[in-house]
Amino acid sequence: LVDASYDRINEVENDIHAFLTLDEENARSQAKLLENSSDETSSLFGIPAGIKDNIVTKELRTTCGSQFLRNFDNPLYDATVVDKLNAEKAVTIGKLNMDEFAMGSSNENSSFKPTRNPWNTAYVPGGSSGGSAAAVAAGEVLFSLGSDTGGSIRQPAAFCGVVGLKPTYGRVSRFGLVAFASSLDQIGPLTRNVEDNARVLEIISGHDKMDSTSANVDVPAYTESLTGDVKGLKIAVPKEYLGEGVDPEVKESVEKALKVYESMGAEWEEVSLPHSKYAVATYYLLSSSEASANLARFDGVRYGVRSEKADNMIDMFKYSRSEGFGEEVKRRIMLGTFALSSGYYDAYYKKAQKVRTLIKNDFDRIFEDYDVVIGPTTPTPAFKIGEKIEDPLTMYANDILTIPVNLAGVPGISVPCGFSEKGLPIGLQIIGKPFDEGTVYRAAHAYE
Ligand code: GLN
Repeated sequence: LVDASYDRINEVENDIHAFLTLDEENARSQAKLLENSSDETSSLFGIPAGIKDNIVTKELRTTCGSQFLRNFDNPLYDATVVDKLNAEKAVTIGKLNMDEFAMGSSNENSSFKPTRNPWNTAYVPGGSSGGSAAAVAAGEVLFSLGSDTGGSIRQPAAFCGVVGLKPTYGRVSRFGLVAFASSLDQIGPLTRNVEDNARVLEIISGHDKMDSTSANVDVPAYTESLTGDVKGLKIAVPKEYLGEGVDPEVKESVEKALKVYESMGAEWEEVSLPHSKYAVATYYLLSSSEASANLARFDGVRYGVRSEKADNMIDMFKYSRSEGFGEEVKRRIMLGTFALSSGYYDAYYKKAQKVRTLIKNDFDRIFEDYDVVIGPTTPTPAFKIGEKIEDPLTMYANDILTIPVNLAGVPGISVPCGFSEKGLPIGLQIIGKPFDEGTVYRAAHAYE
């Protein structure tokens, strides 16, 4: 499998650009060791995996898609999720491209190179886990890990026609995930089908004493929920998710999927998430505020590249940050620093926190009567490389259907549900109650 993975990489990687670092020598020797071992009971025995480049891997370069970390060749430890994959004998093939520090929706903010959509290389793969989605879609690895702060697993999964799940906040340890917005970030799997996804989540989930926000909640055997039975499942379809701004092609695919659910004995009704229209504004205030604090650690002293230009300490901070960060990252740091500054805190940050609660309450209310919420993952299929990069606000609006899920902390999956006329994949989003990934998987698997 590992040989096949590198064969495929040699064949397609020049067109796709999914990887930032390959770990070929190490991976092949690991595979050799496994070949000679008798322990075939590990659940990911010899399975080739790709890891998003904001997840720390011991002695394997971890850049977060940023020039600032281009020389961060020797991280001292593995993230908890990587430890867990290693314990099950998965083989890390390499580190996957991403928008710088996970800020973006198209991979065009990677400071190294843009990844391309395997279905049509003139189009973006989505972001920020664009490399993670493209590598799975192109068959370069059998599964990958991504991170999702406002849609970064589900949106690229939708654009590349693969399955991507953002777990409940706290389900998976964030230890070793380079923080973007700590109250929203979650790591999750991208796979070719729902069963693989459930298997990987089962392995990476669970309480971790190294992450105080990881939840001490039992991890069920998710694969056991894949019964194929959705009779009586109660589905809520928010009218805001099929309204203005959603492509007719996308709408049509989702409506077809709802018919499939009906035919399997599930019931659906229209509901409203009245505060979802404030989600994008709320998200960009909160996530940028958290990012401005989290990214303060990149100062030219502790990690990454130090500017050669400075002759005193303050200038060293300044030049290292000006040279190391890209434009979008600077935009977010400035926005976040402004929103948190005294005098503005109440008007922006505090207000956004209150709206976040209203958005969460919308979901709580719906989940009193329904098992899952279903809608599209994104308003449109993948767009062309270069089409939105000059206009950050249009780019931000692409996340309108994924962001509410992060603000509410609930789990959400994207599964393929058809193709546009141009042959680009469309994603169906299934959202569940907190810690009820099992029902999300059951619904996704029955449809798939
Ligand atoms: N596209 C969103 C952003 O730019 C979401 C990113 C993410 O989930 N990491 O912030």
